[in-house]
Amino acid sequence: MEAAGPGAPGGTAAAEAVVDLDAIAANAAVLTAAVGDAALMAVVKADGYGHGLVPTARAALAGGASWLGVAHVGEALRLRAAGVAAPVLAWILTPGADLDAALRADVDVSVAAGWALEEVVAAARRTGRTARVHLEVDTGLSRGGAAPHAWPALLNAVAERVADGAIEVRGTWGHFASADEPGAASVPAQLSAFEAALASARAAGVDPGLRHHANSAAALLVPAARYDLVRCGIAVVGLSPAPQVASAAELGLVPALTLRTRLAHVRHVPAGAGVSYGHTFTTGRASTLGLVPLGYADGIPRHASSAGEVLVDGARRRVAGRVCMDQFVVDLGEPGASAAAAGDEVVVLGPGTAGEPTAQDWAEAAGTISYEVVSRLGERVPRRWTGTAGVPA
Ligand SMILES: *Cc1c(COP(=O)(O)O)cnc(C)c1O
Repeated sequence: MEAAGPGAPGGTAAAEAVVDLDAIAANAAVLTAAVGDAALMAVVKADGYGHGLVPTARAALAGGASWLGVAHVGEALRLRAAGVAAPVLAWILTPGADLDAALRADVDVSVAAGWALEEVVAAARRTGRTARVHLEVDTGLSRGGAAPHAWPALLNAVAERVADGAIEVRGTWGHFASADEPGAASVPAQLSAFEAALASARAAGVDPGLRHHANSAAALLVPAARYDLVRCGIAVVGLSPAPQVASAAELGLVPALTLRTRLAHVRHVPAGAGVSYGHTFTTGRASTLGLVPLGYADGIPRHASSAGEVLVDGARRRVAGRVCMDQFVVDLGEPGASAAAAGDEVVVLGPGTAGEPTAQDWAEAAGTISYEVVSRLGERVPRRWTGTAGVPA
């Protein structure tokens, strides 16, 4: 399968992001087995964390996911336009969102406030459909979700709308602040708040439907948080949601994405040469430098300047100086130490099984998380999908 997006023709010279669909399916199977009776929602927002929305969704479904989750209604509609029929939840609603299209496409939407409920009800009336909603309650993240003081009023309004047939409550959910930190006091506190919210729903005559509160970290590390459905994104693409607790390999996950390109230029410089913008790196010895034609516009973190590594000619080579918009320089060692030449392969990141760095390694070099590394992969980089999981016959 070839990329058809803007990254494909005329994209970044020589670069490609290869996504292993069989790894995604295997990760989904690992998660499905790990969570027991809970169902798996594969979260494929942000273009499947950079891995491709539709192929990632299909591969995860092939591996055992039974739900898909996205942030925006538009992402859900793209899944439907591609013929993906599995249940889909979109959880960020903004006033004026195209809810008619969502309801016509059988997309479940999340409701956290009275205005959202009324927009959903209006869309249900216009389309003649019963809207399927998931109620979001804030259990302590203080991000989305109905605040505890607003929850009873929302439940009363929901009960009325259920009674008049405008909506059906398919689920009730919350989201953790620190599921990746073992022992964080907020984890049991949020679970208690969720239990209380579920109890108030029942007391208000609202059946909470599917209860869901776990992201990847909680699904894997907090059994009590699994409830009926877990929402996993990063683990589906094979990266650890809690690298300080367990690596991807320790969790049985396989990173699905490999980013590679080719050296654009190789040259020698003397000792004391300042390299790249600002001369933040100076060669300590006569050196061979290689030019990698990917930059921060392609998703290479600028914060990984002089810190990130790539695999060239069988060895890890460190970024020398600042990562630029379209390119960065790597130190290939003393002249003669490497036979690398223009055109040679550069593996920027991958599963880590052949000596190449992982997205987690880049995250550490840049002081960020692997989520940011993979989801910011730029549009200039063409995607290519290998493997057969979920690929329509
Ligand atoms: C992104 C997201 C997830 C998935 O989180 P991971 O840590 O990638 O598993 C789950 N739920 C919500 C609400 C999200 O925004």
